Amino acid sequence: MTDITAPAALDARRADALDAVCDTLMPALESRDPGPAGDLLRLGARERGLTAAVAAQIPTLRPHVRAVLERLLDELAAEGFGALALEQRTARLLAAGDDVPHGRFAVKQLKTMLYGMLVGAVDADGRNPVWEAIGFPGPTATPPSPQEAPKTLPITRVEGAEATLAADVVVVGSGAGGSVIAARLAQAGRSVVVLEAGQYYNESDFAPLDASGARMYLGGGLGWSEHGELGLLAGSALGGGTVINSLVSLRTPQAIREAWAELGLEGLDGEEFERCTDLVWDRLGVNTEATRFNANTERMVAGLSALGYAHERLPRNASLDDDPAFCGACNNGCLRGCKRSTLKTYLEDAAAAGARILVGAQVERVLVQDGRAVGVAGVVANADGSTTRLRVEAPTVVVAGGGIESPALLLRSGIGGPAAGKHLRVHPAWLVTGVYDEPVEAWSGQIQSAASFDLTHCESDVGFLVESLTLSPGTWASQAPFTDGRAQREELFKLPFMASWHGVSHDHGSGQIVLDEHGDPLVRWSLDGDAVDHAVAARAHVELARLHRAAGAREVFTFHYKPYRWREGEDFDAYLEQLRAAPVEDYTAYSAHQMGSCRLGADPQEAVADGDGQLHDVGGVWIGDAAALPSAPGVNPMITIMALAERTATRILAADRQTPAAS
Ligand SMILES: Cc1cc2nc3c(=O)[nH]c(=O)nc-3n(C[C@H](O)[C@H](O)[C@H](O)COP(=O)(O)OP(=O)(O)OC[C@H]3O[C@@H](n4cnc5c(N)ncnc54)[C@H](O)[C@@H]3O)c2cc1C
Repeated sequence: MTDITAPAALDARRADALDAVCDTLMPALESRDPGPAGDLLRLGARERGLTAAVAAQIPTLRPHVRAVLERLLDELAAEGFGALALEQRTARLLAAGDDVPHGRFAVKQLKTMLYGMLVGAVDADGRNPVWEAIGFPGPTATPPSPQEAPKTLPITRVEGAEATLAADVVVVGSGAGGSVIAARLAQAGRSVVVLEAGQYYNESDFAPLDASGARMYLGGGLGWSEHGELGLLAGSALGGGTVINSLVSLRTPQAIREAWAELGLEGLDGEEFERCTDLVWDRLGVNTEATRFNANTERMVAGLSALGYAHERLPRNASLDDDPAFCGACNNGCLRGCKRSTLKTYLEDAAAAGARILVGAQVERVLVQDGRAVGVAGVVANADGSTTRLRVEAPTVVVAGGGIESPALLLRSGIGGPAAGKHLRVHPAWLVTGVYDEPVEAWSGQIQSAASFDLTHCESDVGFLVESLTLSPGTWASQAPFTDGRAQREELFKLPFMASWHGVSHDHGSGQIVLDEHGDPLVRWSLDGDAVDHAVAARAHVELARLHRAAGAREVFTFHYKPYRWREGEDFDAYLEQLRAAPVEDYTAYSAHQMGSCRLGADPQEAVADGDGQLHDVGGVWIGDAAALPSAPGVNPMITIMALAERTATRILAADRQTPAAS
């Protein structure tokens, strides 16, 4: 596990190279406009203090990200990059992007940090001077005070250098899966301890800004796969991903249920799983009554209708008083409290039934004796800054740290068999943006409210969902392809006019979670090697571009590494051809759904746990989260994960009745 000691700062050579790189990505440029729009160009990274902020962040990055940055900085320092003129430096950075994956990954990360801060960072008043220039209103709502929105879940604290707790069941992770199992087992009379690595945040903490939302994400925000091919987003807070997700609630497709039943998840295609899904549906209060389209979704629906594709109003786990005025910042937590996350449902149930919940509690290992679980060991970061080494003794361990962290926990513990970490599915998402004549302000209103299912089988048995997406200015500024420091910023003036949708692919191939040298998870994933996934990615870009054009866009662009852009008046068919022909290395995928990395199934060589959810190789350890899914469901997975967790809870209780608890 990562040792949290002070990271080493950049040495002077690298710091100089970084300064020159930042001054290339975001140079100070001339502008005749005396106002804020002119300032956007006149003030570069140096003048804004962003170079120093990036330098301060680099030592805190994951080792695989830091390594590519340091490599690029060393190369540039050796070449005397800093002495070159701006145009030459720009050309050199563009050439660095041809060094795949290293230089490309490094430029991508530097651009992400620099432009993410330019638009996402705030001053002491919670404002950013760039917003006025680009027509972004900034937060339109303030969070309630702690008195108005008190935290109601009781949190168990530990103290001292070491502590030991005993329970019937310890649940690792409090997200979609873990919360359900904790609630059901506590309600069945078991003593339950929930260990959550993240902190307890509620409405009073949900400032509607990317910068404050980042602390509720795994790794503090957007992470990257081993070579930067895949951007990763996952929740890490009490309630896990359910606190920051977009509320899309979809039932598991019947064909998937049948396939999983054949893999050994007995009855998954029948009534039992239907009942599990109904329980989740009811507890989360899923409905379509509160679903409202914003201007972004209306454009998407117009495009779909124009091309003859159907769309559906999405069911969401929002309370009926959901107010779209608060929804733009949904992925930073709902500050109005309308999101029926597990904080407001299953964790309440668990606490009411006596479960003890710890936060800041990072589990390092599952403890095993004679082939059976005896508990877990980890470390708790206490509120006063101290740490406590914690051991929870329990005959039943539920692993529910999410699709990235659960396999890492098993691998660190030396359990889970040959499939641990393999078969990772990510629902790779492809983002395509259109620029319109009229303002869309895609950052406001409900972020996902409609979808089209018409292309879900466009390549053999897989395809992609068409869904709208919120436009977070910081994300768009940082992920748009780099051409030069002027164009990159001039693009920002178009933000209010952009509509943003994505294709969420149903994986055909898979990736893998391995451990890095610190025992932390490293995501191995690439579009290379799976022709079907590549074909789906190309098709998603083509169809989304067609939809934008049909909806009236004057300009269309993608998040490929290199610019793939069409402007009105240019040959659109040629553009579609260009999208179809994009090489694998030009794609950047994004994933908010990581699944299948400790999958269930009858075959111990191919699956970590049996069809009920208990490890093949260690009794008493159960997989209770997205990692358990035997394959990708092809739809947003929260409901599937929770329904499967409902089923796993019944199986744990059944096994428990056969083998009386040792505690
Ligand atoms: C921005 C975003 C939007 C999304 N939108 C939707 C949507 O609209 N609809 C949908 O269906 N899905 C959505 N998802 C996906 C969905 O939220 C996740 O698939 C789901 O939350 C995963 O559930 P889980 O139980 O596997 O893990 P999580 O909910 O991620 O919870 C895992 C928890 O375990 C904790 N943990 C990890 N390791 C340890 C450890 N070693 N010790 C202690 N604690 C640990 C983590 O901190 C985390 O809080 C979205 C995800 C994101 C990131």
